[in-house]
Amino acid sequence: MQEIKDTDAKPTPPKKPLIFYYIIAMIVVMLLNALLFPSVLERQVTEVPYNEFLDMVDEGQVTEVALSEADEQLVFIAGEDENSLRIYKTGIWPDDGQRLLQQLRSDPNIDFSAEIPTQANPLLSFIVSWVFPIFFFLIIGELLSRFMMKRMNKQMGGGFGNAMTFGKSGAKIYVEESATGVTFADVAGQEEAKESLKEVVDFLHEPGKYADIGARLPKGVLLVGPPGTGKTLLAKAVAGEAHVPFFSISGSEFVEMFVGMGAAKVRDLFKQANEKAPCIVFIDEIDAIGKKRDTGGLGGNDEREQTLNQLLAEMDGFDSGKGVVLLAATNRPESLDPALLRPGRFDRRVPVELPDLNGRKAIFRVHARKVHIQEPVDWDMLARATAGASGAELANIVNEAALRAVRLGRQQVTQADLEESVETVIAGAQRKNAMISAEEKKIVAYHEIGHALVAALQSHSAPVTKITIIPRTSGALGYTMQVDEGNKSLMSRAEILARIATLTGGRSAEELIFGKDNMTTGASNDIEQATKLARAMITRYGMTDEFDMMALETVQNQYLGGDASLTCGAQTAARIDEMVSQTIRQAHEKAYNLLKDHEDQLRRLSDYLLERETITGEEFMKLLQA
Ligand code: ADP
Ligand code: MG
Ligand code: ZN
Repeated sequence: MQEIKDTDAKPTPPKKPLIFYYIIAMIVVMLLNALLFPSVLERQVTEVPYNEFLDMVDEGQVTEVALSEADEQLVFIAGEDENSLRIYKTGIWPDDGQRLLQQLRSDPNIDFSAEIPTQANPLLSFIVSWVFPIFFFLIIGELLSRFMMKRMNKQMGGGFGNAMTFGKSGAKIYVEESATGVTFADVAGQEEAKESLKEVVDFLHEPGKYADIGARLPKGVLLVGPPGTGKTLLAKAVAGEAHVPFFSISGSEFVEMFVGMGAAKVRDLFKQANEKAPCIVFIDEIDAIGKKRDTGGLGGNDEREQTLNQLLAEMDGFDSGKGVVLLAATNRPESLDPALLRPGRFDRRVPVELPDLNGRKAIFRVHARKVHIQEPVDWDMLARATAGASGAELANIVNEAALRAVRLGRQQVTQADLEESVETVIAGAQRKNAMISAEEKKIVAYHEIGHALVAALQSHSAPVTKITIIPRTSGALGYTMQVDEGNKSLMSRAEILARIATLTGGRSAEELIFGKDNMTTGASNDIEQATKLARAMITRYGMTDEFDMMALETVQNQYLGGDASLTCGAQTAARIDEMVSQTIRQAHEKAYNLLKDHEDQLRRLSDYLLERETITGEEFMKLLQA
């Protein structure tokens, strides 16, 4: 079992002071000196006076004699140990010198052909052993930091124009509209997201208006959606509209080579932001630092955790009343640390979903403005053909079409170019499993209408409010939304049974229309939910005659996924399984028969959904009764 980990922010431990790094460098230099540079440089050469030299001769310490012919010098060397030499040097030989020389010559232990030791130049040795290594380190350091800067710029550079790098944080700052050149008009569709962000921009323009009422704006706004749906584009548009300083940084830039850099960067970023308030701070790809922290274990990514902790601490620290608004974007919200999503942190989530039919049309138009189009072009038809495509893919389609036109030596993009590139881009994307084919789309439409119809045809189910076959971030290809009227926290047995039947409605429709052999994997989530409900009905809610109000399961921990464990014997467990399967089978049969009796409506509604991609509950009911 897991234990609950406190995910609250704790301030990072103080950063190791710079002196620490200097000391390490010093030690390395010393080691290098000892290893690389031979002792010669360090050998201490001491000249001794004549009488001391005589003592040395007497004690037999003189081992070598060297003659320097150039300046007619005799040098007597008395080696003491490896690192120090004592020498007597003379040019003018004292009277008894000749005798002494004879005496030394006859001594077999004295080597007369030695080389004259040169006193190591103290300046040179200092340079070689200290200055040079320090320079060496400086150069390496400089090269490294340049390399990293380059990498950073490359990561941030793409498209964000020529903003200047600001301060140590490496965040880019945009102040004027012209900085990004992108406005909300460049973002097609995504009306809800734009609405939400416009409010933020408005707040920054006129904070007084909000303060008068006592409204507090969210501290953090998280843009969530699949790749290529325009999250980064939206943030740029905010920068373009805001007329306030806009700090932008990408999450991956925080995760750097050196320990403590990420946290320091966060601190620095917020410091600047506070000075420049009102302003916007945008963290793109926040999942790079905001991933769930490890639950224990060795070798967790300490650096990333420190950075995340620092971010959490800073978010708590700043006062949104002051006018610092934090924006972030991610396409993996589920991987974010829950602490980031708590109230007071990123308390507003702005979904940036894949565009629907109208959205796709609008995106096509935005991008068509940038190329020469030969009218007429049937955008409606192109938008229909690209169900499930993201904004980035649509932009790519227009660009591919333009490339094709150039290839064929034309000046304008035609409908045929666009159709062709839809095919190449979709075929490419289909391999990546990102888009749905026409056939799949049809199946999904029947599946969703199956759910909705079964719900509508039973008296105990919640009304359908929305049906869509636009793929979702979660990976679902479509969904049917039902919302209960009023606040409901209790469910009756009839309602649970109706819900199970509704869940089986999707698969039932597939079977009815396409045949049993053509049922798809699309019902996996339905199956899971239906099974859970059926099981809970028996084991937890006491809704069967056979077991009455006997608890057969206990929930272990409500907050950790609500794992339930059986509290009954093996035989009972087998019986429960049997009853679960029976309950589901009955519901499935009921759903199938309901649909069979209303096959007309099923087909009519599915065609309509296929055409519209999203329909409201009212539209659905109107058509059902028509
Ligand atoms: P994300 O950050 O969500 O992965 P981007 O913002 O980087 O996606 O989008 C990539 C490109 O796709 C944009 O530069 C733009 O050309 C195009 N695009 C995406 N969504 C839209 C949209 N709603 N309107 C216009 N263009 C879009
Ligand atoms: Mg992006
Ligand atoms: Zn379903």
